[in-house]
Amino acid sequence: MQHGYQYCPKCSAGLVLKSFEGKQKSACPKCDYVNWDNPLPVVAVIVPHVSGGLVLIKRGMPPRVGYWALPAGFIDHGEHPEFAAVRECKEESGLDIKLARLLSIHAPEGRNQILMIYLAEPVSALPSPGSDALEAKVFAFDQLPAEIAFPLHKAAIEGYIKREKRNRRRRKRL
Ligand SMILES: [Zn+2]
Repeated sequence: MQHGYQYCPKCSAGLVLKSFEGKQKSACPKCDYVNWDNPLPVVAVIVPHVSGGLVLIKRGMPPRVGYWALPAGFIDHGEHPEFAAVRECKEESGLDIKLARLLSIHAPEGRNQILMIYLAEPVSALPSPGSDALEAKVFAFDQLPAEIAFPLHKAAIEGYIKREKRNRRRRKRL
C-alpha cells in the first residue's frame, strides 16, 4: 500500500494504481504524474569531542522528541549530503564541524529513508542547543544516555566507541 496523495498534485485528477516494472505506484490517469515514493535521504554525524566523549543532541523535532540522538536531519533541495551534515550539526548543536569521512549508509527498516552517517573531526568547542534541539551535550563513552532515539544511531555510536577504544589501546602500546 502506498502512502501519499489521493489526487494528482499537478492536475487534481483522482490517482489510480499503475504497474511499473512489476511495482504498483499511484499515478495520474490524465497527466504524467507518478508518485514514485522514493526514499528520503537523511544525514547524521558522529562528532567526537577532544575531551574523549561525543556530542549528542536531545531532539526537539518529531519523531522521538526528548530522546538523545546524533545531530541529524534532511537534505535541502539540491544540497550535497556532506553540506547537509555540516549544516544540521550547526543547527542542532551550534558546532562548526569538519567531516572526516562517510562511515556508513543504511536503509532503516520501516522508514522510507536512506541514512548516511558521517564521522566528524574532533571538536574542541562545547555544544549548545540550536533551534531544532532541546539540549546538546558531550557524553563520555561510559556515561551515554540509557536510550538513544534511533536503533541505527545507537549502533553507529556503539561501533564508533568500539573502534575508538581499540585505537586508544593501540596508541598506548606504541
Ligand atoms: Zn495529473
